Amino acid sequence: MRKRLIAGNWKMHTTIEEAVDLVIGLLPGLQAIENIDKVICPPFISLYEVKKLLKGTSIKLGAQNMYFKDHGAYTGEISPRMLANICDYVILGHSERRQYFAETNLLIKEKVKAAFNYSLVPILCIGETLVENEASLAEKVLKKQIMDSLGEITPSRDLIIAYEPVWAIGTGKAATAPLAQKTIKLIRDLLSDLWNTEIAQSIRILYGGSVNSSNIAEFMQEPDIDGCLVGGASLKADEFVKIVEKAAPMQR
Ligand code: PEP
Repeated sequence: MRKRLIAGNWKMHTTIEEAVDLVIGLLPGLQAIENIDKVICPPFISLYEVKKLLKGTSIKLGAQNMYFKDHGAYTGEISPRMLANICDYVILGHSERRQYFAETNLLIKEKVKAAFNYSLVPILCIGETLVENEASLAEKVLKKQIMDSLGEITPSRDLIIAYEPVWAIGTGKAATAPLAQKTIKLIRDLLSDLWNTEIAQSIRILYGGSVNSSNIAEFMQEPDIDGCLVGGASLKADEFVKIVEKAAPMQR
C-alpha cells in the first residue's frame, strides 16, 4: 500500500513573517489529519524558522530546489549538505526551473543523485508543455524526462514523482482525473521498464496542476494517483487543510 502524500509548493511567495503566519494557520488543521503524509515547501529563507515551528508535529518540510554539489564557489546556490539537517524532501526539476532557469534532465539527474546521498526524498517533477501536448508528444517527452533524469540512479522506493502537465500549472485548468490517471499509469509502466515492477508499484506518483479543494477528491479516486503537489492553493491555510482532509483515506 502506498501512503498518500500532499505537498504544498509555496514557490517564491511569503516573507519569513508571512511564512510563520501561514504555518501557524495550518498547524491545528493539518495536525488533526492522520493516515497521509503532509509536506510544506516554503522558500529557502524561511526553512529554518518553519522547521522550529514544525518540531514535534506530523508535518514534514521540503525545499523547492537545490544544487548538486556539497559546497564550493557556486554563488547563490544551496547545497544538499545544507538542507540535509533541515528538510526531509526536496522538489527537483519543477517546470518553472526548467523554463526560467534552463534546467536540463541531465542536471536534474545530478540533483536526484545528490538528494539520495543526503537522504533527502526527491520529488521529481515531470510533465509536457502545451505545445508538446497538442503535438501528441506527451508520452515521448515523459519517457525522455524519466530515462535521462533517472537513467544511472540506483533504483529506490523513496523517490516521489510529480506528474505536472505544464499547461495545468497555475492556469486553473487542471487535467481531468481520468487523463491524469492514464498518464500516471504510463509513468508507472516506464518506471517498471527502467527498474522493475515491484519498485514501480511502490513509488508514489503525484498529480500537480491547479489542484484545489473542489477537484482533489476526483484525483484521489484514481488507483495510480498517490497524492498531489499543490501550488497556489497551498498558500491559503484553510484551503490547503481542506485539500489534505479530502485526500486522506477514510478512517474505519
Ligand atoms: C506547482 O507549482 O507545482 C503547481 C502545481 O502549481 P498550481 O497548483 O498553482 O497549479
